[in-house]
Amino acid sequence: AKANDGNNYQFYSPELNERNLTRLRMELRLRQALERQEFVLYFQPQVAADGGRLVGAEALIRWQDPVHGLIPPGQFIPLAEETGLIQPIGDWVIQEVCRQQQRWRAQGLELPIAVNLSARQFRQRSFIDGISQALAQTGIPPHLVELELTESMLMQDAQQAAAKLNRLKALGFRIAVDDFGTGFSSLNYLRLFPIDVLKIDQSFVRELQEDRAALAIIDSIIALANALGMNTVAEGVETQGQRDLLQRHGCRTIQGYLIAKPMPETAFVQWLTRYQA
Ligand code: C2E
Ligand code: CA
Ligand code: CA
Ligand code: CA
Repeated sequence: AKANDGNNYQFYSPELNERNLTRLRMELRLRQALERQEFVLYFQPQVAADGGRLVGAEALIRWQDPVHGLIPPGQFIPLAEETGLIQPIGDWVIQEVCRQQQRWRAQGLELPIAVNLSARQFRQRSFIDGISQALAQTGIPPHLVELELTESMLMQDAQQAAAKLNRLKALGFRIAVDDFGTGFSSLNYLRLFPIDVLKIDQSFVRELQEDRAALAIIDSIIALANALGMNTVAEGVETQGQRDLLQRHGCRTIQGYLIAKPMPETAFVQWLTRYQA
């Protein structure tokens, strides 16, 4: 709403006030959460579609709020993006992934971890320096970090994005396109960017068995990925039927509740020990 000259009726809208207040309060709480280190990373395994061998994990942020409990990213990442808080939060995620990798490597576990990047974080001019520094400080080799970007992030300023990704690729990072197939973007960009992985969006996986169109789209994504030398990860795999179908259609890696939900570090390591036994 715009300010009305000489007419401040908007201040009588209790709904508007309420909404702004809630937002403001939430922003304050987010800032505090950062200071008080209330964020945690959960890890969800990614396994080979055929044998089931563990190939990596995706790091997913949660907010452990002392009052409201565990808050999923969908409830605070959008506001963090709007307010710019996503930058320090994103920095924290990268640092935490590196520290986690460091602890695991000390225990003899070496596992690629996929990290979700936000548009604003990726556009930051200091992004490459920041992530390089975090790795250098912990001695983590870049091939153990996979950067997940969405199609819209690549399309926003394709030239700039291509230049950045080429530099990241040259440094040894792996690059994944998240939610692939949902972005309404041209396929031409697949030629422009050094992409290693296409993550098939869970909306296609969900409909896989009922909707011929969903299966046809998945088939095309896999064919495209194979032809371009990229890997495919299917997200949101919940049933054995979905897994079988995906495997038969040539999808290489799967991730989803069928294998395991995202878990905090200790539970993840316990899961791993049992899974690999
Ligand atoms: P995403 O990257 O597409 O992550 C996949 C989401 O699907 C996760 O939700 C995951 O918990 C959920 N999921 C995994 N397997 C299944 C399944 O079998 N069935 C169903 N129904 N869901 C499944 P989550 O953890 O709530 O994350 C939501 C979104 O928040 C992520 O979507 C990502 O876009 C964003 N996000 C998460 N962590 C970060 C982060 O560290 N930084 C940024 N910028 N965004 C993040
Ligand atoms: Ca993701
Ligand atoms: Ca996704
Ligand atoms: Ca998503």
